[in-house]
Amino acid sequence: VIILAIETSCDETAASVVKNGSEIISSVVASQMDSHKRFGGVVPEIASRHHTEIITQVMEQAMLEAELPFSKLTAIAVTEGPGLVGALLVGISAAKAVAFAHGLPLIPVHHIAGHIQAAELVKPILYPAMALVVSGGHTELVYMKEPGHMEVIGETRDDAAGEAYDKVARTLGLPYPGGPHLERLAATGEPTVKLPIAWLEPGSYDFSFSGLKSSVINTKHNAEQRGEPFKAEDVAASFQHSVVEVLVEKTKRAALAYDVQQVIAAGGVAANRGLRAALKDAFIGTGIDWTIPPIELCTDNAAMIGAAAYIEWNKQNLADWDLNGKPGLALT
Ligand code: ATP
Ligand code: MG
Ligand code: FE
Repeated sequence: VIILAIETSCDETAASVVKNGSEIISSVVASQMDSHKRFGGVVPEIASRHHTEIITQVMEQAMLEAELPFSKLTAIAVTEGPGLVGALLVGISAAKAVAFAHGLPLIPVHHIAGHIQAAELVKPILYPAMALVVSGGHTELVYMKEPGHMEVIGETRDDAAGEAYDKVARTLGLPYPGGPHLERLAATGEPTVKLPIAWLEPGSYDFSFSGLKSSVINTKHNAEQRGEPFKAEDVAASFQHSVVEVLVEKTKRAALAYDVQQVIAAGGVAANRGLRAALKDAFIGTGIDWTIPPIELCTDNAAMIGAAAYIEWNKQNLADWDLNGKPGLALT
């Protein structure tokens, strides 16, 4: 089963050819980051326009690198949601056009299922599994009893982890997207600033990051008002420490409670080295295996959509020609 997958939910235009949901034959990602940087965030209109300009080239490049004719493809897959509606529509329209022209079936894919399924591109997922999804728009613990089964057992009640990283980074004067910049700054500081961790009710697998974010903003304002020194690198290290601690601890509790065989980290924030190291440490000696995909498979890409599409293909969950972008599509 060879699938050409397309991803345009946010600010990456991506296409990839994936075999049997586990082997990347080609993967092309065109980032628009530079166009959005000066606005401090993704501007939906600009995102759609960039996708339109480049999607054909990105798809052609993926096919060229795969060295395959369209006749060898089994299906075309595309992210149907969640994401920016205009951005999603560009990928969906392109996918429909290619599928129609070559007489291929069209597979709709959930973007977050894609982030999770990126693990399968590293090594086979062992079920039952627990996925920690930490991205720009999502923070969730997802229990997977078997392939294709996804149950959200905990989620953020306010900001997503990536959103918190980006907002705190902005407060500290770092460029967008702030996550990687904040990580680098944190590495030069010490976690000496007292910041809150929202554990929420006992037994809850939910998260909350807005209090932590506000605390960083207050710490900065207070220091400015009192004319006291403000060490951004120490605040960054403390923020990173608080986020990683709650993410890792709740993931560990959930993995043990649900008696899973494997833990998966997914989404852009899983690119964070501090989080990656802490997750690995947490599962050493537990008998639970873990997969943390390489950084380029944590941030948005189309190979992960090709991996998730394979599961939909096996269920013959196909789309009709009226497939539409679903900005708020739920995982389960
Ligand atoms: P979603 O997947 O929820 O729709 P998205 O696709 O925009 O959102 P991703 O591309 O998965 O999100 O991840 C982007 C987020 O990851 C940004 O918030 C970015 O700051 C964050 N991020 C990327 N690298 C790092 C890092 N090294 N440390 C912390 N955060 C990071
Ligand atoms: Mg992005
Ligand atoms: Fe994403």
